[in-house]
Amino acid sequence: MFEGISGKRAIVTGGGSGIGREICLRFGAAGATVAVCDVAVDAADAVAAEIRKQEGNAHAYKVDVSDFDTVQAVCNQIADDLGGIDILVNNAGITRDNLLLRMSERDFDQVVAVNLKGAFNFTKACCRHMMKSRWGRIINIASVVGQMGNAGQANYASAKAGMIGLTKSAAKELASRNITVNAVAPGFIATPMTEKLDEATRQAYYKAIPLKRAGTPADVANLCLFLASDAASYITGQVIRIDGGMVM
Ligand code: NAD
Repeated sequence: MFEGISGKRAIVTGGGSGIGREICLRFGAAGATVAVCDVAVDAADAVAAEIRKQEGNAHAYKVDVSDFDTVQAVCNQIADDLGGIDILVNNAGITRDNLLLRMSERDFDQVVAVNLKGAFNFTKACCRHMMKSRWGRIINIASVVGQMGNAGQANYASAKAGMIGLTKSAAKELASRNITVNAVAPGFIATPMTEKLDEATRQAYYKAIPLKRAGTPADVANLCLFLASDAASYITGQVIRIDGGMVM
């Protein structure tokens, strides 16, 4: 029998849109209490309301993941509101694509600050709560480009590769407290982030995917649900690709 996450308390960053939204909805439907965290507070509010409408438990929090002090304060607030923190999904992410020669310092710094430092900020703030209860799940939404590299995404690929290093280091540090830390590396998923790409780029991606389609946020959310559950208790420090076979 699949052991779910009923009764667990979960934080999902970037929960207002795309993959993060779907993870929130899945976790809520599976009986977890969900803290929907997003810099876009209206979007987070809407997702929390959707979960509550389906008889689930959810709260929305406005937070910029790159702001260290705010993240520590919000996580303490969430732990107070929910009575603890069991599951963290570091999902918030942005892209600022450009070729190296044209990439500004600001665009490099912003992407690293949100995608990589944001995950560090939340991991640091949440792991002390998980250590107390000697149970925890941390899931970092990385990307296949963190392993492959990608022309036009030196900032994003660096941040995602850094996230993989963060995942493995945290997995080694926290294993003795029964906290697992894994990275999920999606390939091409249909979300507002990829809607920005032009049709030619999209078609080029489909050609490179053996399953010949974009992934859905639900595909990624299902994997996160499994990793967050007791059924995945012997998996830690791994990077699990979910990409329709794009990278083998
Ligand atoms: P999205 O743009 O639909 O959603 C991202 C969410 O993060 C938004 O709700 C946004 O408001 C929030 N966010 C952005 N900056 C933030 C900040 N500073 N603080 C808090 N929240 C912030 O994107 P998505 O496609 O759902 O991507 C989710 C994650 O999956 C990202 O980490 C992305 O890098 C990763 N990913 C996506 C794909 C894909 O093909 N869509 C592929 C690989 C990895």
